[in-house]
Amino acid sequence: MANSKYEYVKSFEVEDEVFLPNLVVIRIDGRDFLRFSQVHNFEKPNDERAVNLMNSCAVAVSEEYPDIVFSYGYSDEYSAKFENRSLCTYEHLTICCASIEVLQAYLAWRQNDCLINNQYETCLGMLVKCGKTESEAREILKGTQKQEKNELPELFHQGSCVFKIEVEDIVNYNENGTPVKRLRRKARIVHSENIARKKFWNEHPKLMA
Ligand code: ATP
Ligand code: ATP
Ligand code: MG
Ligand code: MG
Ligand code: MG
Ligand code: MG
Repeated sequence: MANSKYEYVKSFEVEDEVFLPNLVVIRIDGRDFLRFSQVHNFEKPNDERAVNLMNSCAVAVSEEYPDIVFSYGYSDEYSAKFENRSLCTYEHLTICCASIEVLQAYLAWRQNDCLINNQYETCLGMLVKCGKTESEAREILKGTQKQEKNELPELFHQGSCVFKIEVEDIVNYNENGTPVKRLRRKARIVHSENIARKKFWNEHPKLMA
């Protein structure tokens, strides 16, 4: 992040209130998750149980709070975009996005961070498996560029999105046994390679709310 092309996005992190027409994004990050992962013997860097736990929590929170229209997460963090009409205040790190373009830049930063951290941790793990000590491995990886680390499995590198999509639910049955269906909005986990692209947002216009 430091001195990278994404650095300017940090200036959109604000201490207090966000006023309309800015978009509101809240990022929460697990406290002491490293310790939690050690206690539960999570496999580094991406224990599937932990990823599923984080994603299930995001789905549950999204179902609970209708003001959350979209969220993106990886590792122990999730960023949630709120509906513009939302008037609540939240005690977390708040990011004030003046436009959808700023929101896209913010998401590009987080998704890039997800990729870089994953590549680094995966390489570190492989070097340790090959017999290096952790500090030797960190020394080898010092100064390596993204391209050099690119030949790694794509799995987990893009993080997860949670947003509501319309699904048909059977709510009842008629006397003759035919199901009565109703459209319901349910939170779903979606993986997408580049959530910062305009294309992604054009395909999901409801998320702009
Ligand atoms: P790098 O990409 O080099 O790891 P980063 O900027 O992505 O750096 P992170 O550890 O991913 O660093 O966290 C992002 C930033 O968000 C932190 O530098 C910090 O400014 C801020 N931040 C993270 N968690 C909190 C928190 N709980 N409260 C306040 N600010 C936080
Ligand atoms: P803080 O309280 O300052 O946020 P933290 O211990 O939560 O500290 P972070 O910087 O938030 O540390 O980093 C999250 C930690 O959790 C990293 O050490 C990361 O490797 C670990 N972690 C996150 N997701 C997983 C996962 N799916 N499997 C294994 N480890 C994970
Ligand atoms: Mg951190
Ligand atoms: Mg944490
Ligand atoms: Mg974290
Ligand atoms: Mg980081």
